[in-house]
Amino acid sequence: MVHPVTAAYPTLKDYLAEKVVPIAHQLDQESALLFETFWALGRQGLLIPKIPTALGGLGLDTQAFWQFQSAVARHSGALAFLQTQHQSAASLLLSSENEALRQAYLPAMATGKRRVGVGFSQLRRQPAPLTAQPVPGGYQLRGEVPWVTGAGLFEEFIGAAVLESGEAVFGLLPLVSSADDRGQMTVHEPMAIAAMASTNTVKIRIEDWFLADDQMVAHRPAGWIAQRDRHYPLSPLGLIFGCTQAGIDVLVRSLSRRQIDHDITCQLTAQLDQLKTAAAAALTLGEAAYSQKIALRGQAIALMNRCAQAAVIATSGAANALGHPAQRVYGESLVFSVSGQTTGGAIASLDCLLS
Ligand SMILES: Cc1cc2nc3c(=O)[nH]c(=O)nc-3n(C[C@H](O)[C@H](O)[C@H](O)COP(=O)(O)OP(=O)(O)OC[C@H]3O[C@@H](n4cnc5c(N)ncnc54)[C@H](O)[C@@H]3O)c2cc1C
Repeated sequence: MVHPVTAAYPTLKDYLAEKVVPIAHQLDQESALLFETFWALGRQGLLIPKIPTALGGLGLDTQAFWQFQSAVARHSGALAFLQTQHQSAASLLLSSENEALRQAYLPAMATGKRRVGVGFSQLRRQPAPLTAQPVPGGYQLRGEVPWVTGAGLFEEFIGAAVLESGEAVFGLLPLVSSADDRGQMTVHEPMAIAAMASTNTVKIRIEDWFLADDQMVAHRPAGWIAQRDRHYPLSPLGLIFGCTQAGIDVLVRSLSRRQIDHDITCQLTAQLDQLKTAAAAALTLGEAAYSQKIALRGQAIALMNRCAQAAVIATSGAANALGHPAQRVYGESLVFSVSGQTTGGAIASLDCLLS
């Protein structure tokens, strides 16, 4: 079947097949190569596909964006993950009332002329790791941002800090260690992580940083992230489906190489298709369907892990080699199993492990 998104954007299809597939393993390991590949997507104007075309994006709706993400993640989880952070920053800017920032950033982000990450998952933590205090002309920020992906590529990130009232302020912050009259920002070395280390995920320490009003992206009410998590529990599915397909691809090749005839491929593919259909239907449902959606996300994570594990088993001992695609997909499934995880998401995934 022709993939709807890659059919609509043949440059993406060709680029993934010709340029990404041969270097997928290095993209997981080598930041410079990964960043060059990100730039190449930018040269094709493919970096913020969910943003309206008038502002430089492709105007994809959620389902089409899943297909886009899935197509990229099928070939390189690291590239898809990096692009997703940039897209998240663009979506925050799109909803911003700061018109000057929207105009200055969004079209430039489509091509990679401006590169922006995000650091707001800490809003899920209690007490807030990063706090803000109103001061004349802006806010004073203090604390820690535990996760920001893309150091060395993204020049800035949109960080979120919590006010005493529980409301959150989002603003543009430099993704590089800085000490000047705005305050002090310390970007730690990239974390030593088991998979996708090339994406350069860092922790940031912020000491009395002045976030000026003109760098403000958004202001959100107390409890915003919990509401968002309830509204959009399916948002990581594009990455999860892509990684699942990547596992099936490795499985098919390994079974064929060893001349093992087994119907597991058909069964896993059928399960993936069923979940995609169920997810598309669930997208039309409102927040009342939260339990159904979070259970679906748990099932999708469980299927992704089964496919990654099947790829390892079918590959046999060679799957233990760091350079084998089965190893890469197994590692990517580790990251995608917990991306944007909430307590409800963890419980849904754990439930699936028992069923
Ligand atoms: C490789 C990698 C890259 C990442 N990159 C980014 C990035 O670029 N930007 C970004 O914003 N995030 C990023 N993340 C964060 C990612 O989305 C988080 O994994 C996810 O949000 C879960 O956060 P956590 O593991 O820090 O868990 P926690 O912060 O511990 O939270 C998990 C859940 O537990 C709940 N919880 C935590 N503490 C308590 C408590 N004491 N009592 C009750 N409930 C509690 C939280 O409310 C939440 O629902 C990245 C993660 C990884 C692994």
